[in-house]
Formats: sequence, C-alpha cells, structure tokens
Amino acid sequence: MVDAKAIKDKVSKKISSTRSKVSSHLTAHKHCRMCGIHIDVKSDPRICKEVTCVEKLEKQEKNDKMMRIMFFVFFAAIVAPIALQLLGFGA
Ligand SMILES: [Zn+2]
Repeated sequence: MVDAKAIKDKVSKKISSTRSKVSSHLTAHKHCRMCGIHIDVKSDPRICKEVTCVEKLEKQEKNDKMMRIMFFVFFAAIVAPIALQLLGFGA
C-alpha cells in the first residue's frame, strides 16, 4: 500500500525548499542592468557606478523617449485621421 501521507510530506518539503531557494536568490542582491555585476540592493537606477554603464542607461532612456515620441507621431499621423473619418469628420 502506498503511504499517501509520506508522499505528501516529501512533496511539500520539496516545494518549500525550492521556494526558499528562489526567494533567497531574489533578495540576496541585484545585478547591474548594463554589465551584470553585483550591485547594492538599494541601487536606483539599477546600475553600477561605472561611467560606461551610466552612459548606456542614458542612451537607452533617450531611445525609449524617442520611441514614445515616434509612437505618438505615428498615432497622430495615421490613426487619428482614420478615426476622425470613421466618426464623420473627414468628409
Ligand atoms: Zn555596470
């Protein structure tokens, strides 16, 4: 006969050990977003103090801003006229 309780205990032990492994890994430290080295958990933005990483982050943020602007331009130039036409303003 299979001992169901023993199996349950085994499984729950396995799950809890896996969970504690994951959470301890998550809370232990952070990595620099650019070069991946360990950094202080409280670092904000999430990069180390290397000039190259700071510059990279600045470039990335500029790119993100540009992408957002492009999206709004695209929206205004293409989607808005169609929407207005659909609503009867373009005729
Ligand atoms: Zn770095």
